[in-house]
Amino acid sequence: MFGFGIIAQDPASAARAGTFQTPHGTMLTPVFAPVGTQATVKTLTPRDLKEVGASLVLANTYHLYLRPGTALIADFGGLHSFMGWAGPILTDSGGFQVFSLAQMRKLDAGGVTFRSHVDGSAHRFTPESAVTAQEELGADIIMCLDECADPLDRAYNEEALARTHAWAARCKEAQRRSDQALFGIVQGGVFPDLRMDSARVLRALDFPGYAIGGLSVGETKAEMYSILEVTVPELPSDKPRYLMGVGAPEDVVEGVSRGVDIFDCVLPTRVARNGAVFSRAGRLNLRNAQYIRDPLPLEPGCDCYGCQHFSRAYMHHLFRAGEVLGLHLATLHNVRFMVRLMGEIRAHIEAGTFSRFSSEFLAAYRVPNQEVRHAHHAARRRGETVVLKPGGRRG
Ligand SMILES: [Zn+2]
Repeated sequence: MFGFGIIAQDPASAARAGTFQTPHGTMLTPVFAPVGTQATVKTLTPRDLKEVGASLVLANTYHLYLRPGTALIADFGGLHSFMGWAGPILTDSGGFQVFSLAQMRKLDAGGVTFRSHVDGSAHRFTPESAVTAQEELGADIIMCLDECADPLDRAYNEEALARTHAWAARCKEAQRRSDQALFGIVQGGVFPDLRMDSARVLRALDFPGYAIGGLSVGETKAEMYSILEVTVPELPSDKPRYLMGVGAPEDVVEGVSRGVDIFDCVLPTRVARNGAVFSRAGRLNLRNAQYIRDPLPLEPGCDCYGCQHFSRAYMHHLFRAGEVLGLHLATLHNVRFMVRLMGEIRAHIEAGTFSRFSSEFLAAYRVPNQEVRHAHHAARRRGETVVLKPGGRRG
């Protein structure tokens, strides 16, 4: 039912191209999954997703558990049928949102008790209930319940890691359905020894795939990349590797070169709704006055519906006027941009030219938020409070 195969390996980096077979179709890796937090990728229909070539979609267990309820979704035949998406789906365990969104969180060895951010009602997630909820949702790839600690706090990471490992074993034990691939999640903050230890512990549990969690939550990009460099070699090479919540174009290219196969991130869809679209030169902010009379498409050469039919001037107008079509077209373009990027990455891995592609891409792509992340990081080091947006880079 599941099968992961490597088709090509880049000679100059850890990048690889493969295929991942699931009960709802085979996807080509490396793959980027757009995020459908509430069982919908905001502003896009499943028809749009199919048209732009998305193969894997992520949905958030925490949100769907609270509303409309995972049992209700099971009554409608599971997530695939409820949201009308016939392709592969991945759900997270809900743990990340409990730690970033829920209120009055209380943690013990058995699980985590919290209040809903929607209506304040009390709930409890255990490794067993997180698996049950995901079995009700019925995604193809499901995740172990884990604890996402502040990446820079060593003592907290040691404590959290012990729980995460115990919970991973319990999740595996609790799994009843054989048509879902349960992935273990490596944690350990920015500490190489903890990350390597976590990878070894989880590897011994023999999961069909491994996720790397707790990154892109406040550490620098350099720290994130170096953590990948120590973690990935500890994971089995014949199983898919999933970098959770990371999906800025430059991070995808850097992640692939370090051996990552699967990415997800709200970034492409979230920034689109703020009027920012991806291009090979970096992000364009459509609200800027420079686009008032710009006759070019969002990105010349892009084959998405928006780029084929509209000018930047029209897109600028839609955002200025607050028209919903702008949100849709910008989202469509950014998802298409990610899908095309993954396709190019894959073609270059197969051709043995990925390293040259990677340096050319990174040289051309202006990164807008690196300064912001460095400022956050520095503030943390100084012990100041850093307010990350709820949900950070993920749903
Ligand atoms: Zn486009």
